[in-house]
Formats: sequence, C-alpha cells, structure tokens
Amino acid sequence: MTAFDTLPLPAAQIRNLNSLGYLQMTPIQQQSLPILLAGQDLIAQAQTGSGKTAAFGIGLLERLQPARFEVQSLVLCPTRELATQVAAELRRLARYLDNIKVLTLCGGMPIGPQIGSLEHGAHIVVGTPGRIRDHLRKGTLLLERVNTLVLDEADRMLDMGFAEDIGQIIAMTPLERQTLLFSATYPPNIDALSRDYQRTPQRVQVESTQSKPKIAQSVYACDDADKAEALIALLQRHRPEAAVLFCNTRQHCMDIAQALKTAGYRALTLHGELEQRDRDQTLVQFTNGSAHLLIATDVAARGLDIDSVDLVINVDLPRDPAVYTHRIGRTGRAGREGLAISLAGPKDGIKLERIEADLEQPMSRIDSLPAPEQGVVPEKPAMLTIAIAGGRKNKLRPGDIVGALTVGGGLSADDIGQITLSDFTTWVAVRRAVANQALETLRERTIKGKKFRARRL
Ligand code: AMP
Repeated sequence: MTAFDTLPLPAAQIRNLNSLGYLQMTPIQQQSLPILLAGQDLIAQAQTGSGKTAAFGIGLLERLQPARFEVQSLVLCPTRELATQVAAELRRLARYLDNIKVLTLCGGMPIGPQIGSLEHGAHIVVGTPGRIRDHLRKGTLLLERVNTLVLDEADRMLDMGFAEDIGQIIAMTPLERQTLLFSATYPPNIDALSRDYQRTPQRVQVESTQSKPKIAQSVYACDDADKAEALIALLQRHRPEAAVLFCNTRQHCMDIAQALKTAGYRALTLHGELEQRDRDQTLVQFTNGSAHLLIATDVAARGLDIDSVDLVINVDLPRDPAVYTHRIGRTGRAGREGLAISLAGPKDGIKLERIEADLEQPMSRIDSLPAPEQGVVPEKPAMLTIAIAGGRKNKLRPGDIVGALTVGGGLSADDIGQITLSDFTTWVAVRRAVANQALETLRERTIKGKKFRARRL
C-alpha cells in the first residue's frame, strides 16, 4: 500500500482525500493514477468496489480548469444508479476545488430540468449513453471542450446495446482527449472499442481484491402454490437483516409481496413498471435499513448497487445460468459469508441442471420444506424512513437535517441513519422508536428558514 502523497497531487486534494478516509491507494489507484496523471489513455480491468471511481475521478479533476464553465469531463455509465453514485463520488473528490459543477444526465427523468441545468454550465457530466445522445441531438449539450472521456463498466454498456450511442457520442468529442476505459471483464468487443477510440492505451489489471465470495447455496423442492409458505418459514429461520427475493415476473413479485405483508413482513417491491421516483424511494428504504426484504425482478434489479445482503432467495429459478450467478452475487460480498436459497418447482429440473453445469458443482438439495411456525411476529426493521419535501435544489444539506433533529428535536446522532438527498426530496432514516418525535420536529421546525412537508414512508 502506498499513500496518496507519493503522487504529484495538490496538497489540498491530499487533505481532502484523507478527510474522506482515503489514506492509502487501492491497487487499481496505485497502478492507474501515474498513467492518468501523465495524460495517457488507459484500459483498466477492475470491479466495482476496487476504488476505480476515485482513480479516474482524481485524474480527471487534475485536468479540470474550474474557471471555465464548460463540460471538460464526460463519464458514460450503463445505469442511472451507477451514474448517481459516480457523480456523488466525484463531488466528494472535487471538494478541494471551488464550485465544481457535476451534472448527471440519465434517462427515466424529465429532460426539461436537465436542459435548464446545462444552461447554467457544468464542468463534469456523468450520464447514460441514450440520454447523452438525446441531448447532443437537441444541441443542448456541447462536448467540444471535453478533455477526459471515461467509459465506466464498458462491458455492461456494450451488453446493454449502447455501442452505437457510444460511438456517436465520442464522435462529438475532440480527438485530443484522454480516453479511459474501465471494464470488469475483457471480451473481444472491449478490445474493439479500445482500438476504435483509444490511443496507445496502457493496460492495468487488478485481481479482484476479495477472494472468491463464499456463498452457501441450497435448493428446496417446492410447488408454486407453496412458495409463499416456504418463504415465511425460511425467513423465520434465517431472520435476514437484508434479503433480496427474486421472482421471474412482476405479477409474482406482487403476489409474494402481498403474502409476506399479510404475514406481517415489511416487504418492498422493485419491478420494471415502477416510476423512477418510486424506484428511488424503494432503494433508499432498503439500503437505509427501513425494510429487511426487497422483492425484485431481474430487469428492475439490473445495475442495482446494493451492498452485500445476507440472503438471496430465488423464489423462481431463472432460465439463464448467468442470471442465477448474477443474482446470488449480491450476497457474500466484502469477505462475508453469503447464503443463497432457491425454490425449485417440479418443472425446474432442466433449469437446475443447467445452473449446476454452469457452476460446475451440484447444489445441496433439500426435499423437506420447513413449515412456518404459527404466531411468530416478524421483527420490525430497525429504521424508518421519513421523506421531506425538499432536496438539493432547495439547498438542503444532510447537516441541516441532523441539526434540526438533534438541536431542535432532542434526537441523538445515533438515532439518525442514512440521509439521502435528491433534487426535490430528502429521505432520512431514523430509529423506529423515535420516528414520531422526529416527524413532529420536522413538521414544526423550519429548516433554512422554511417549513418543509414531511411524511413517514
Ligand atoms: P468504487 O470501486 O469506485 O465503487 O469504490 C468503492 C469504494 O471504495 C467507495 O465507497 C469509495 O468511497 C471507496 N474508496 C475508494 N478509494 C479509496 C481509498 N483509497 N481508501 C479507502 N476507500 C476508498
């Protein structure tokens, strides 16, 4: 491990990094930052969690001229969730500079406000290829001053069919640019992408820092009609803090959610037909500890960044073994032991065989289903989310909310969990026991001289 101060970075950035808790470089940073700071193109094979965002973020900020209100860096990401996270990380990294504007431009959101924000000028744009291309067509985004172009999770962007959009976008950037390509895997089409758009790229590769995740996998034989009962029994037995339950269809998601709710569980659903707002709200509640259970379809869960969950349940087995692997990969991260349970119906034999062939190992099969215990009341999640009808655009900051709740509302800092800001909404997780007190405080007090509506979710 090497400290950041071995790099030619401004002292203010080193202090900023240290204040973020970044004292030593991660392996990807150690290998790529010298190349990035030298202005060379880079192709890096690195996973999420490796610190790759900070690697390219620190690099692109060094090339940025804050006084020029022009888009100088463009980061393309496969999904809105990733773009949002990348933008948040870039804002943190940019704290050592004054007034750096980072804008996210993603689909699934109204384009009007994005156009408005673009008119105010931005230094860095992070977005998904489809929406960026829309802006280029409309002439609302100019890329002629871009000096750093980042293709993040390039393999996934190609998988999602963004190759043509990416080509059109790159065509609008100057030839004299630094192009950084990050990809978890290295299939031939990534090679082609690099050949088309990079100049003598330096290549770095880091072994995934985590050893192969340990995931215990088992399969219960179960008729469709018995799945809800089986889930309740499994939840009683394992009592997960955070579990994702995958269903193959939206309808099944809703049916299972209903059955679990009836049994007293707080279960959130995530499927493709949710409005973006509801999707955000669902994810916030799941990640901030306001719900133990998330019931999802694959489409909806694509690109989701949920930190390690204790348990993944395949309520329905997927047809594609790759989907199975992807689903269960959400458990057992960060060196923790994971658990994946699948419910296999009588007709799932072939699916199961394919999955086992793909894993190159048989899974332990359990024929006897546990029966749920009667009269057990499910434990409530530790936290509860309050939604405040004001966000970043109202100049709210996490500190304002903490201040209102602690100084004015008598809560202790420990009662307050994750605070998530979007443009017009703030979600704050508070301990369930003090939720009413928190809600009253937020309704009565002014924040930044204004009263905001607040409600519990
Ligand atoms: P990423 O791979 O970009 O998704 O980053 C994974 C996580 O590592 C993020 O939460 C970063 O905030 C964190 N991180 C990045 N660089 C460092 C570092 N040098 N030291 C400690 N944490 C880091």
